[in-house]
Amino acid sequence: MWAFQALQPVQQPPPYHQIHSQKHQTTRVFSRHQTSIAISPSTNNNHLIQSLCKKGNLKQALHVLSQEPNPTQHTYELLILSCAQQNSLSDGVIVHRQLISDGFDEDPFLATKLINMYSELDCVDHARKVFDGILNRTIYVWNAFFRALTLAGHGEEVLNHYRRMNLIGIPSDRFTYTYVLKACVASEALVSLLQVGKEIHAHILRHGFETHVHIMTTLVDMYARFGCVSYASCVFNEMPVKNVVSWSAMIACYAKNGRPFEALELFREMMLETHDLVPNSVTMVSVLQACAALAALEQGKLIHGYILRKGLDSILPVISALVTMYARCGELGLGRRVFDQMDKRDVVSWNSMISSYGIHGFGREAITTFKEMIYSGFSPSPISLVSVLGACSHAGFVEEGKVLFESMAKEHRIYPGVEHYACMVDLLGRANRLDEAAKVIENMRIEPGPKVWGSLLGSCRIHCNVELAEWASRRLFELEPTNAGNYVLLADIYAEAKMLDEVKRLKKLVQAQGLQKVSGRSWIEVERKIFSFTSVDEFNPQIEQLHALLLKLSAEMKEKGYVPQTKVVLYDLDEKEKEQIVLGHSEKLAVAFGLINSNKRATIRITKNLRLCEDCHSFTKLISKLANREILVRDVNRFHHFKDGVCSCGDYW
Ligand code: ZN
Ligand code: ZN
Repeated sequence: MWAFQALQPVQQPPPYHQIHSQKHQTTRVFSRHQTSIAISPSTNNNHLIQSLCKKGNLKQALHVLSQEPNPTQHTYELLILSCAQQNSLSDGVIVHRQLISDGFDEDPFLATKLINMYSELDCVDHARKVFDGILNRTIYVWNAFFRALTLAGHGEEVLNHYRRMNLIGIPSDRFTYTYVLKACVASEALVSLLQVGKEIHAHILRHGFETHVHIMTTLVDMYARFGCVSYASCVFNEMPVKNVVSWSAMIACYAKNGRPFEALELFREMMLETHDLVPNSVTMVSVLQACAALAALEQGKLIHGYILRKGLDSILPVISALVTMYARCGELGLGRRVFDQMDKRDVVSWNSMISSYGIHGFGREAITTFKEMIYSGFSPSPISLVSVLGACSHAGFVEEGKVLFESMAKEHRIYPGVEHYACMVDLLGRANRLDEAAKVIENMRIEPGPKVWGSLLGSCRIHCNVELAEWASRRLFELEPTNAGNYVLLADIYAEAKMLDEVKRLKKLVQAQGLQKVSGRSWIEVERKIFSFTSVDEFNPQIEQLHALLLKLSAEMKEKGYVPQTKVVLYDLDEKEKEQIVLGHSEKLAVAFGLINSNKRATIRITKNLRLCEDCHSFTKLISKLANREILVRDVNRFHHFKDGVCSCGDYW
């Protein structure tokens, strides 16, 4: 949940009838009766309509309106509110028509109310007509229109009107800035709008709004959405006053943009520095997401305790995040317990549970939970389908996955998106039904995109299919020319097929373009502290000790038949040097660190930012037996639960 998805403020214009009452009374009387004799409003009928509106009796109110020659502005205000509350577009249109014939068509106060009403009734076209039809636009009308367009996702239109507004010299107020910043991210074309967002940032500074908490927090949110973490943190650090929403926005920015360490650090800072601020649900969801990303179980448990103490345990997004946190920290059972204790659930909580089963490889349970969700009366969301299809893929349930995929449009009216197709290609590809996977891609009604092609290439690596791998990588190289990972995967496939000239050609290509592989990184939590490892970790104070332990273990394993698998090393080195490189992989360092520093009986929990390589996988299996320790590794795809020399994935990942 993004911080700024919290309810947007609805701007309240000043009571227009107080400022303009004399003017509009005259206009109204002239336009309706074409006479200069002012008719005083029939107080009784107006009063009756207003009371009926307040009581929710809209139909009767409309009946009295049809007999009332002089409805007042306040009467119309209440009628419009009532139509919005009762979600009645047809009545709203009747009131709107009557209001025009009564001469209120130039009343900016009522125009604002009408725009808000149409926005709430999801009818942005009608809101646009109200805006276009009024000449006397005060800032309130503009703001209401901006809000309506932003909520309807027409970000670019807001920005076009904003430019017009600036050209004709109407000064923005604090609400305008909030809406236009939100408009920047309410559009599909995110990249092009970042520049516009920066320009609005400059306007805000130029017009002296930099001390305004709400605007600056919206700026933090906007930069977070664009993934510009450093811009967001600059704005945040410069804010003279920060409230809980600002802190939460920055914590969410870190959590959503792959910076979980910083998210937890900032949360700690917030708790230490601000004694009067109480974290809200957005804060807690982001902090739990950070714990989940790092598999920081102990910290996650502390946060759970805090949530219970502060009574935040009835907020659905918080509990769903708890379910996910426990599951992603390897404690699927605890996640299930939290899920079972929920008084009420929404689709998000069901999805959390389904995907939790998925990453642990429990396909059967994921499908059962998906069916339970539907049985309980919930319509699945596109994410539910991604979760359950992903679970089928991890468990190798091809037929079940195909049935679910077929049911999407037929039963649930969800048309498969790129994510769903990627799941299907992965499911069929892993099961060595690569031709079927290719056929799925050929029959796609949307552009496949890198995710789908990447799934196919990944499966080609598992089953060493050179022909299809070349087909997939040709498209991938076009779509992601700078992603070194794709070149490495193809080189891997060539190496497996003993096509060494091709391997050399690819390596040269990667070197010539100066492409860098994403470097492997692993994390481990020991004594409530998170330790991070990369493959070349000279700065770790224990590095020599870790290397010595790994060498010793490797020697012992070799005696029992372990052969290091070094094909992931793409450099021209001799076998000994290659062995040294794979022995220094970040997850092995993390395992060694866990063996040395944690309680002898505690489960070792590790997170890895990439897919676990074959060598690390077989090495960890053997360690779990040699050292008699349970080891949980969550790689980018799923969980591996190593125990007694075997892994829960059944070597299928
Ligand atoms: Zn490895
Ligand atoms: Zn495994």
